[in-house]
Amino acid sequence: MRTIGLLGGMSWESSIEYERIINQEVRRRLGGMHSASLVVIAYDFADIERLQSQERWQEAADVLAGGAVRLERAGAEVIVVCTNTMHRVADAVERAVAASFIHIADATAAAIERAEVPTVGLLGTRYTMEGDFLLDRLEQGRELRVLVPPPEDRQAVHQVIYDELVQGVINPRSRQVFLEIIDRLGAAGAQGIVAGCTEIELLVGEDDVGPMAWFPTTRLHALAAVDAALAP
Ligand code: GLU
Repeated sequence: MRTIGLLGGMSWESSIEYERIINQEVRRRLGGMHSASLVVIAYDFADIERLQSQERWQEAADVLAGGAVRLERAGAEVIVVCTNTMHRVADAVERAVAASFIHIADATAAAIERAEVPTVGLLGTRYTMEGDFLLDRLEQGRELRVLVPPPEDRQAVHQVIYDELVQGVINPRSRQVFLEIIDRLGAAGAQGIVAGCTEIELLVGEDDVGPMAWFPTTRLHALAAVDAALAP
């Protein structure tokens, strides 16, 4: 089994989910007392959030690329950045190491392809919904259309992520807001929803989205990391 390196703490509310899902999957596949071989770096999210909101993306890229190098020195052969938003600097992280880099959009796009869903709605931080780094990578080379909510809905989703989810607050009223936004994406043509922020799965689940297909990026990314770690 290869060692998986997690760049986490963005936020820790979701990186502990990565650890849980990866370990559960390794146990499911290998049985007995097996668990994942992991190396973890957890950042102070306040530092990362400051770089994001001040648009200091080059510094953010340097921080995460440096983290990936430290993970690799500690034995990681598979590198996972445990957040959609920070995939904005994925190229720098990937370039910094020889280890396999598992891109969250690739793991998600593979699941969308398997489900044969042609149009999905994307929920995430405003960086993710308004930037092209995730959206383009999802659509690239595929017959896939990715819709994002209108501005007021994007603002609401972004605010719930930063004011609540990354701070460990799960608010049923916000779940309702998300479900209404998901309904509107459905009315606009989405047949599936990409939970494109790693904390969204803490608030909304497959059962909440009714007949729509559900693409939870934390889970899909964590499972792709296990695939890479256990590949022959
Ligand atoms: N974890 C979130 C994401 O997947 C948001 C926190 C962050 O900005 O990294 O985008």
